[in-house]
Amino acid sequence: MNELDIAEVRSGFPALEMKVYGKPVVYLDSAATSLKPIRVINAISDYYSTINSNVHRGSYRFSQMSSDAFDQVRHQVKSFINALKWEEIVFTGGTTESINTVANGLSALLKPGDEILISEMEHHSNMVPWQFLAKRTGASLRFISVDQNGNLDWESFLSLLNSNTKILAITQTSNVLGTNNPVKKMAALAHEFGTLVLIDGAQGIVHGNVDVQDLDCDFYCFSAHKMYGPMGVGVLYGKKEKLEMLQPLNYGGGMIDQVTLNHTSLKSIPQRLEAGTPNVSGVIGLGAAIDFLNDIGWDQIQSLEQNLSEYMLQKLIGLGFVNIFGDSSEKAPIYSIFIEGVHAYDLGTLLDKFGIACRTGFHCTQVLHEKAGLNGTLRASLAFYNTKEEIDIFADALVKTRQMLL
Ligand code: PMP
Repeated sequence: MNELDIAEVRSGFPALEMKVYGKPVVYLDSAATSLKPIRVINAISDYYSTINSNVHRGSYRFSQMSSDAFDQVRHQVKSFINALKWEEIVFTGGTTESINTVANGLSALLKPGDEILISEMEHHSNMVPWQFLAKRTGASLRFISVDQNGNLDWESFLSLLNSNTKILAITQTSNVLGTNNPVKKMAALAHEFGTLVLIDGAQGIVHGNVDVQDLDCDFYCFSAHKMYGPMGVGVLYGKKEKLEMLQPLNYGGGMIDQVTLNHTSLKSIPQRLEAGTPNVSGVIGLGAAIDFLNDIGWDQIQSLEQNLSEYMLQKLIGLGFVNIFGDSSEKAPIYSIFIEGVHAYDLGTLLDKFGIACRTGFHCTQVLHEKAGLNGTLRASLAFYNTKEEIDIFADALVKTRQMLL
């Protein structure tokens, strides 16, 4: 696609043709899950309608074809995030499973006195696994503070990082504030102390080019469903020697080399970390999503999203009654807002009547909200398929719903 025709892009997303209460849907919840383009939907459905078969388990033609299609996506992901080796790409069920694979995998390596460093803005998926790991091993969990503007407190980060910090697990982009954290700089500093670095890329993967070698992270986790791919599949990238350190989360078929009654030898990575039948259709869908993104290109996506984001910001400021949680200057197009005297849940419920899909509540970041004294926010998150007209509808609906609720 050379010059992006937004009407053509939108026509490739069947869900955008849906109506809610007779009104065209205004989908502002892409940070929860993006809509899926028809080519991703078709890739999944074609797999089930044609070569449906398990991978790496059959000598027949369709199984070989499935295996080839599946293996090819591993190479695609490798190029997409610029990993050094295809072995560094592990397929998981999503970001949550990727993070748990690392947290569980490090269990045997942590001991009392060791420290795990995360931030106050982490999604529960990048907080709870570390809490439980800390409890299991006796290690301490430390938190980098977040300031009033939704930025990481750099002094807090520097003061907490030390030679006992065994792992730094940090989100690239906050799913609430939209803040883009300086993860490359953080990884470089952490490595000076021999600290492993895990980046939660659930939100970062969809707004710009990710180069794991440039970031120099040890692990990078993401989900396909936030980047126009299907649910139930994700990726754990890890430097080869770091993945090899991990004790598997699951044991079973597909990851074993030799099994006797009392002993089992395991395959090398990535298979060692992928027990059981994988989500073959999901992986194929992920491959189609990567093709989709590559065909459009990050330049076009970023320029559209930036335009929309600026428009949204001006609209919200212009309303005069909207508070934006997190005003980092270069943020992802994610707007968590609150209005004095109005509960986010009531707001979301009424916006739904206008056909507007937003998320309400803590967005899996209870710690962050409670620290700011908020009992929830309404989150409107944009993708490049959104339009300024949709933002106008959202802004008008905010005015009307506020009048109804106050
Ligand atoms: N981290 C962040 C920053 C997220 O936004 C999400 C999804 N909301 C996750 C982790 C978890 O992703 P998943 O539910 O796809 O495993």
